[in-house]
Amino acid sequence: MKNKPTIKTTGRYRLQHRGVDCLNCGHPLNLSDKFCPNCSQANSTKKLTLLDFFEEFFSNYFSYDSKLWQTLAALLLKPGKITREYIAGKRLSYTNPFRFLLSLSIVYFLIISFNSEFESLNKYGSSNKIPTFDITKQLNTYEFENEEEKKAAMAAIDSIKLQEFIGDMISKKDSTILSNPKKYFKEIKDDGLFNRYGSKIKFFSTLIKKDTIYSLDESVIKYDITPNLENEMTFNLAKSLVEIEERPGTFFNSLISKLPFATFFFLPFFSFFVWMVYIRKKYTYTDHLIFSFHNQSLLFILLIVSNLINSVFNIGSEGLFLLIFTIYLYKAMRNFYQQGRVKTIIKYTLLNSIFFILGGIAITILIAASVFTY
Ligand SMILES: [Zn+2]
Repeated sequence: MKNKPTIKTTGRYRLQHRGVDCLNCGHPLNLSDKFCPNCSQANSTKKLTLLDFFEEFFSNYFSYDSKLWQTLAALLLKPGKITREYIAGKRLSYTNPFRFLLSLSIVYFLIISFNSEFESLNKYGSSNKIPTFDITKQLNTYEFENEEEKKAAMAAIDSIKLQEFIGDMISKKDSTILSNPKKYFKEIKDDGLFNRYGSKIKFFSTLIKKDTIYSLDESVIKYDITPNLENEMTFNLAKSLVEIEERPGTFFNSLISKLPFATFFFLPFFSFFVWMVYIRKKYTYTDHLIFSFHNQSLLFILLIVSNLINSVFNIGSEGLFLLIFTIYLYKAMRNFYQQGRVKTIIKYTLLNSIFFILGGIAITILIAASVFTY
């Protein structure tokens, strides 16, 4: 009995301190009861000394701790076994799968928020554009080996010039908006919802970028725009898009930090498909869900470890850990569902395909929602 507190008969656990009613729940007790059979509080009427108080704190801490270590060990060393044991009724030895996953996702969330490794992507944002110099002039002074090389270099320059030309066109459009915003906004044609929204988003993002407008109210006063729902929506969207364009890394970080919590909406949905694929097995939907929670927990553990290794050794170890996870997942499915290799491989492939399709849809929704609320 690893998880029961060790039965002590010294100190406040001595016979002389025992009562006939549980002080916690009132359950009648015998003097031979060291613990209440109803709520498992120690049968002791002795007042807590400071030492008792600390002892109780640490014994609770270690009993949770040993549960935690057992869960971790079982999860890491015996793929699939922990779920089998848990749903078969061996529950007190392990941490509740939902609480376990929640704790891990919080830890993972804190680590990635702390690391914010995508912040470096901000250098690709428009707020960090390097001023261009006249490349043609530079090349004229350069001695080419042969004509071929010169041609290739010139072709490359032409494509750069095309980009500059497009850039000019865009800034020309910007200047038509900026020369008379009031007039431009009034003339936005009502040719379909998408075109109208597109034009308004373009209009607002130009104003936000070039005219440093911070809220719709400002543009209402300055350019006498009607403050209706459509204008508000397009304004907020334009503002998010400008924000993302200028600092893509920050947006990516905020997106990634939502992922740990998005799994709680995603897994119940995905488990439904697992249930369908294993419909002939005698497992309930909840059993499949617990299996998904355990696997997801392991994935978080691997990602946390990978993150720590990355920041200590300054390397990228995600690929290796994801490879470990794909092997683990196969082992876990074999052990949990107890089917042959071929059947397991087929179902593994099928479920992974479903996972990635659903994941793609979920991420699209998440990105859309993030843009709207950014
Ligand atoms: Zn009790």
